[in-house]
Amino acid sequence: MEQAWAASELGELVDALPDAVILVDSEANLTWGNQAAAHLFGRTLESSIGLNALEFVHPDDVGVALTSLESVVGKKVGTPIELRVRAADGWHTVELVGTPVGDSILMVLRDLTERRRWELAGDHTERFRVILQNAAPPTLLLDANGTVTSSSAALTRAFGVDQEWLEGRPLSVLAKGADAQAIEDVLSQMSPGDTREGLRRHVDVTLTCADGSSLATQLELANLLDDPTVEAIVVSIHDVSRRARAEEDVRHTNSLLAATLDATAEGVLAVNLSGAVTGYNERFVEMWNMPPDVIDSHSALAMRNHVSRHVIDPEAFMSKAAALYDNPEQESHDVIEFLDGRVIERDSRPQRLDGRTIGRVWSFRDVTAKRALQAELEHQATHDELTGLANRALFRRRVDEAAQSMTLPEDRLAVLFVELDSFKTVNDSLGHSAGNEMLVEVARRLRDCVRTQDTVARLGGDEFAVLVRRFAERADAEEVARRILSALGEPITVAGRSMSADACIGIAYGAAQASTEDLIRNAELAMYVAKQEGRNRFMTYVEEMHDEAVRRLEVASRLRGAAARGELVVHYQPVVETHTGAIRSLEALVRWHHPEQGLLLPLQFIPLAEESDLIDEIGEHVLEVACAEAGQWQEMVGEDWAPSVSVNLAPRQLLDDRLTHRIAEILHATNMNPARLTLEITESALMQDPVMAARRLAQIRNLGVALALDDFGTGHSSLSHLQKFPLDTLKVDRQFVDEVETPTGNSLVGAITQLAHTLGMGVVAEGVETEDQRYALEMLGCDLAQGYLFARPLNADQTSELLRGARAASTG
Ligand code: C2E
Ligand code: MG
Ligand code: MG
Repeated sequence: MEQAWAASELGELVDALPDAVILVDSEANLTWGNQAAAHLFGRTLESSIGLNALEFVHPDDVGVALTSLESVVGKKVGTPIELRVRAADGWHTVELVGTPVGDSILMVLRDLTERRRWELAGDHTERFRVILQNAAPPTLLLDANGTVTSSSAALTRAFGVDQEWLEGRPLSVLAKGADAQAIEDVLSQMSPGDTREGLRRHVDVTLTCADGSSLATQLELANLLDDPTVEAIVVSIHDVSRRARAEEDVRHTNSLLAATLDATAEGVLAVNLSGAVTGYNERFVEMWNMPPDVIDSHSALAMRNHVSRHVIDPEAFMSKAAALYDNPEQESHDVIEFLDGRVIERDSRPQRLDGRTIGRVWSFRDVTAKRALQAELEHQATHDELTGLANRALFRRRVDEAAQSMTLPEDRLAVLFVELDSFKTVNDSLGHSAGNEMLVEVARRLRDCVRTQDTVARLGGDEFAVLVRRFAERADAEEVARRILSALGEPITVAGRSMSADACIGIAYGAAQASTEDLIRNAELAMYVAKQEGRNRFMTYVEEMHDEAVRRLEVASRLRGAAARGELVVHYQPVVETHTGAIRSLEALVRWHHPEQGLLLPLQFIPLAEESDLIDEIGEHVLEVACAEAGQWQEMVGEDWAPSVSVNLAPRQLLDDRLTHRIAEILHATNMNPARLTLEITESALMQDPVMAARRLAQIRNLGVALALDDFGTGHSSLSHLQKFPLDTLKVDRQFVDEVETPTGNSLVGAITQLAHTLGMGVVAEGVETEDQRYALEMLGCDLAQGYLFARPLNADQTSELLRGARAASTG
């Protein structure tokens, strides 16, 4: 077919083609076109030459056109593409095929607009409608003014809005207020040919349904006004109520989380895997006093560096954190101490999202106050409140530790058990606060007597203990004991009075692994033995002491039931008129026929019985026996000659609520005349609880029973102090009687007698052993006396004998 047509003929042929044909140069400038092209674009060829072909392409299709231009180079024929071009009567869709011709490209444009219209007008329309009507998102077509031209049935289903009603109305009628405005706004930006913002737009609005309810939606608007096949804005409406709810939930949760984090007392910091801070709360900033520039750096490392300058152990602090960042899965807990005294607990755990670790969350708690409280509680639990010394529990622990820490066979420790000699009297006569004053001072002196590595403790009451650790020789521990005795021997001022705080000390030595309990018990035993020897001394524990203690235990267990077994007997010692020697009364004094040890005196078992309720059993027994035997003597010698009876009451008995009742019962059972009974009590019994004692004595006195104060002068109470108790008789202790022949002793007994008489009390001198004493007492006006001079305590038979003899002598 080479050169079969002349050039002019060819030109005519090309002009006659129904498709537009144009020639563009490499810059896409128009160099030539046929008649159909002139027709399509509605302009003469002359006026078009030199224009850039891309100017005729729809802005949205320029990209496609350029790609096609490039790809056609080097090919024989390009791939047909569809694009929109600006024709004389608006946008036309054309199919474009390009062919390179030298440096130019020949383009054939086939107008598809009519064909598309035809396609749509055919059965395609029906199909399109069906799809559109039933598509899930309601779809609308709007004209360039935003007026609805058609809508899908889905709209009615979703909003209950009538399709016919809506058509011809603006889309914004579906919404109210700001939402309607938002629709107007977005539509105003969608005009033909204006696709600066892109073809598609989205807007979130709440639409109103026909029944007044509302629905959160997202409108998707596609500007197809320029698309000749549609020529409309296509709006599809997506129900986003679920998404909106979910978003609302997330916002709610986030705000709750943020509020919680800010309200919590803990500082919180979240860091991602690359060490960038992803979150923190106010408390965190406050707690670490974090400067703004460090916070703004969002660098966990910068924050750590800042903090490390204020902690006691910065290295540990840094390395611990670094180790955790190296092991993202690890959880941790540690405590950081600050130079300023604060203590902060640091916890950290991985932050996970869908099971994947994405970072680490740190929480910080200021536990300074808690720690201080703990320390305080710990101190309270291990120290004596009054003296501040270690308490028994801490002392035990210290002895344990000392015993465990000794390694050499020759290592020794010593436990000193210290008990004051007369604390009870001070406490009873001067009151608790005086007693406390004394204990505090004793504690201070004890502390001064030991080295810092030793421990001084108060075990309770007036019992103290000292742990002496590691000493060269036994003599050293004994030296401590001596030092203590001499320190306590120095006068102490208590309640304005100067006195000494003499003590007895027991020492027990222990080697490595010694039992703490044994050490303390042995030291206590040694102290008891020292006490028995007298005041103000120390004693070292030896094995025999333990045996003695065991014996005492045996005695105590035997004593129980001794009364019932008839082992307790009552002896009587007469109280006589000093002047005439006539028997006025009998003091009942208990004795124990021990099955193995023979006859035991009260001192050998009464103190033991006083440690428990055994004393009640014994006391009642003696009272019963004494009353019964007194009854027999009355019958024997007659009412006029019958002496009255005194029975001793132990301090502990006085505390017993049932005492008065028991006395009444015994009086009744033995048919005893209460006026013939006197009960003897000691000062210490009155001073333990003076108010209660006064009440109890009044009750006893109401029974018609007389009361005597025994061993007067051994306590610290003054006579005027005793005035408030209903006492009938004062028994002056033997130690005064012993001195009655010396000038001071004489005037003392004289003064006591005078005062007692003034207060309306009778006076009995105890322990009169010599005629000279008797005479001196008689001269002082002390009318009654008791002692070996007149008679020793006698058993019941001997007493009967004595009474009978006395009666016979006087009636003679
Ligand atoms: P007390 O009540 O002061 O009894 C007087 C004590 O002095 C008696 O000792 C008596 O034997 C002793 N005594 C009497 N005259 C002389 C004397 O001239 N020289 C010397 N050196 N001593 C003399 P006893 O019987 O050993 O009783 C001692 C203490 O035991 C009593 O002292 C009393 O406090 C207590 N006691 C005795 N029997 C009972 C009892 O049944 N119940 C209670 N709770 N205590 C009792
Ligand atoms: Mg007595
Ligand atoms: Mg006495």
